[in-house]
Amino acid sequence: MAFIICEPCIGTKDTACVDACPVDCIHPRSDEDNFDDEQQLFIDPEECIDCGACVPECPVEAIFPEDEVPDQWHDYIEINYKWFGREM
Ligand code: SF4
Repeated sequence: MAFIICEPCIGTKDTACVDACPVDCIHPRSDEDNFDDEQQLFIDPEECIDCGACVPECPVEAIFPEDEVPDQWHDYIEINYKWFGREM
């Protein structure tokens, strides 16, 4: 299981979660070329170690464990997986 970044991140892209992540699995980072091209940040589901450190850092409460993603944001599970080319 992984953590998933949902709709509230769109237009926010606060990067406190990136700094909190011990395995650098949240992208794009602000120092990556594609940072300005993306509306939100994403978590790599194969690299995430489910530590939860990113959750309290998010100012808009956009991050949830995969099995606790609210129904209205369920599409974001696939969106996060696909951004990294991961199979669900
Ligand atoms: Fe990174 Fe931990 Fe958040 Fe996964 S749960 S994205 S490993 S900080």
